[in-house]
Amino acid sequence: MSAGTVIACKIAGWVDQLDDDDRAELHKFLTDGGSMAALFERCKTVGLVAGLTTFKDHLKERCACVAE
Ligand SMILES: [Zn+2]
Repeated sequence: MSAGTVIACKIAGWVDQLDDDDRAELHKFLTDGGSMAALFERCKTVGLVAGLTTFKDHLKERCACVAE
């Protein structure tokens, strides 16, 4: 997590601490239009602790991080 950055939701905080390879894989998955549920399962294997709804809301930009 970067100094001075306010992280509004736990998904953002989790993505922020991923290494470059995992983050690249996440973005590739989103670009490819893969199943959100499958991505969620994959993310849980690399340490994500959150609900599927929270996860989806973040990826669809409906979470607190993108609120004005
Ligand atoms: Zn978020």
